[in-house]
Amino acid sequence: MNPVSKPIIIIGAGMAGLSCATWLHRADWPVLLLDAADAVGGRVRTDVTPEGFRLDRGFQVLQTNYPEARRLFDYGALNLKAFRSGAVIRLANGSETTLQNPLQHPQGAFSALTSAIGTLPDKLRVLSFVRHVLKYTPEELLARPATDTLTFLQRYGWSEQMINAFFKPFFGGVFLDRELTTASNFFEFVFQQFVTGEAAIPALGMQQLPEQLAARLPAGTVQLNTAVTAIVNGSQVRLTTGKVLEAAAVVIATDGLAATRLLAGRSGKPDDAISAEAASFPTAARLTTCTYFATRGGHSPGRNDKLLRLNAASNALVHNVAFPADVSGAYAPAGRALVSVSTHGERSTSEEELTAGVRRELAAWFGPAAREWEHLRSYRIATALPVYLAGQPAHQSLRLSDSLYRCGDWTAYPSLNAALATGREVAEMIIKS
Ligand SMILES: Cc1cc2nc3c(=O)[nH]c(=O)nc-3n(C[C@H](O)[C@H](O)[C@H](O)COP(=O)(O)OP(=O)(O)OC[C@H]3O[C@@H](n4cnc5c(N)ncnc54)[C@H](O)[C@@H]3O)c2cc1C
Repeated sequence: MNPVSKPIIIIGAGMAGLSCATWLHRADWPVLLLDAADAVGGRVRTDVTPEGFRLDRGFQVLQTNYPEARRLFDYGALNLKAFRSGAVIRLANGSETTLQNPLQHPQGAFSALTSAIGTLPDKLRVLSFVRHVLKYTPEELLARPATDTLTFLQRYGWSEQMINAFFKPFFGGVFLDRELTTASNFFEFVFQQFVTGEAAIPALGMQQLPEQLAARLPAGTVQLNTAVTAIVNGSQVRLTTGKVLEAAAVVIATDGLAATRLLAGRSGKPDDAISAEAASFPTAARLTTCTYFATRGGHSPGRNDKLLRLNAASNALVHNVAFPADVSGAYAPAGRALVSVSTHGERSTSEEELTAGVRRELAAWFGPAAREWEHLRSYRIATALPVYLAGQPAHQSLRLSDSLYRCGDWTAYPSLNAALATGREVAEMIIKS
């Protein structure tokens, strides 16, 4: 039984805050989850348009083998719909090649001598690398020494063609980092997840993930439209209304930038000391834009093959294209196809220029009908993923003082798994304290 009467206050009802709340509630601890937004989920949100399109705020998938996701979610109730493992790759010369299951069945995908991507040694390296990642647990891979992913791939011996035509578009899309500067221990972890699991979306959109966790908490636990402006004495939080709430402990489960702001505005007892190292967080983030179009009718340009489209051309605006309604019909009204286009970076391009440029490239890729596709909405997400470079620990200290904790992907590595894991770890620390 918990020894406290005041609740544990968690600031942020994204995946980390919800995970923390879920584990605390399972152990019978009282929890109050506050979020500034109008719904739970943080970066995992889905909008439904008046016409009935479901637009995830940025193209995003759940890797079904994420250890933390398997511990928390009821996959059956989520009605997960998986993309097919593999991708259609548009090469720099405009031709297309299809890789079937390149990671789950690498022997089938890469052994064909006719495959346009990779030399025979490249294909054999994929097989040996699959064997390599399968020797480790996910945690062991994340703890491995790291360099940047591009250097790692070059040192492993893969050809420039293989790196440019497969690794950059595929993993650049996962990292939102086409140059592959992201740390290689995270690459090894993600590669293993693609080998052992599927990339899936809940039938009704990604927001079903946070909604499922929130629905298991007692009524009144989650307070939306409630922004916290300051943490006082390590165990009180001040709201924008000026109201101060008392807590047994406070968990910061915001993104890194908001956490830095909250801690900068912190006031309280001198003995509630937080080390300078713990209080200065890395806040650099990857930007991505997701541009949604709807076809006017007819067949899906994705041919219902449930494969992701990757663009290997280095100077393109269209980095990857997905057709979510081919994977889950509920993403679009009958007779319409939904086109999700991701562009990573491009900070200086306005939304208008980007939409026009994307449309031009789509017409060259999918035919002139793309010029008539309806532009539904664009989501430019400036802080989509925390930057994660070689040398950054995959686990930062989560306890800031006796009664103050932090969790979220920015305290570990850029993934849903990290958000869920750090939320659980903080809950376990509180329960043991
Ligand atoms: C476009 C995109 C694609 C992605 N693709 C993938 C993918 O394919 N696979 C994968 O594993 N991960 C992916 N991710 C990453 C994943 O979504 C995140 O790692 C995860 O959602 C982070 O959760 P979090 O709880 O740490 O933070 P957040 O989701 O940022 O939650 C923080 C919460 O804190 C709230 N908040 C902030 N300040 C305050 C305040 N002062 N008071 C009260 N509330 C506050 C916010 O409203 C928010 O709800 C993607 C992310 C994006 C944006």
